Amino acid sequence: MTRPRRRLVVGNWKMYRTPSQAEALARAICDPVARTVGDRADVVAAIAPPFTALPAVAPIVRLHPPVALCAQNVHWEDEGAFTGEISAPMLLECDVRYVIVGHSERRRYFGETDATVAARTAAALRHGLTPIVAVGETLDERERGETETRVLAQVRAALDGIAAEMLVRVVVAYEPVWAIGTGRNCDPAEAGRIARLIRSALPDLDAVSILYGGSVKPDNFPAYLAGGDVDGGLVGGASLDADAFAVMVRQALPEDAR
Ligand code: PEP
Repeated sequence: MTRPRRRLVVGNWKMYRTPSQAEALARAICDPVARTVGDRADVVAAIAPPFTALPAVAPIVRLHPPVALCAQNVHWEDEGAFTGEISAPMLLECDVRYVIVGHSERRRYFGETDATVAARTAAALRHGLTPIVAVGETLDERERGETETRVLAQVRAALDGIAAEMLVRVVVAYEPVWAIGTGRNCDPAEAGRIARLIRSALPDLDAVSILYGGSVKPDNFPAYLAGGDVDGGLVGGASLDADAFAVMVRQALPEDAR
């Protein structure tokens, strides 16, 4: 029997908040979110502050088990001469459980490729971190009719060859690049169609949670969940607003538990 897919709401704080600011934001998020989720195992909230804020936020998250700590990237080696990079063992010591890999801002501004995303994904899994693998087409690719081929290529490049028992631990985030930080969100039915396409990319993706990301906020998030193919959100801008983030976590609960 396939296990039911977990719902996940991830706040990507990008390069916002110093350690002291992050501590204050984490406090504002963790209390209401912990009250909302309680001891349910089917909904997880995760926050991804900048690396420098992880040690400040970790003790707050530790006191609020429904909230998990997420990093914004991970290197594929455990240590070495890789200036500016952070490894999985370093993240684990900060209580990090999730890590975003392949975010389009990394692909676009920092030369991340399908090959480096695959290496980072494998390293995360090797160390017991849950990788949130971000994939998505640019506006040019969509307008050229290449959405499906681009998304499938990114998914296969990151996940091909990963053993089935590891694959179930992966989370995929469909984030059309043109929808990130633009206020122009993808039609929910289209996001659901791409989520189904992603599940068809490889055997064993049935149990994998697929998130949508791209200008998600409380007034559009329920529409993504309603279709049944999208299992949560990777939220940028709106995750810096503690009240909005807490509302989205509540929206992710089954209807009779909200
Ligand atoms: C993101 O950072 O992954 C993202 C989707 O950002 P935003 O919600 O601001 O579009």
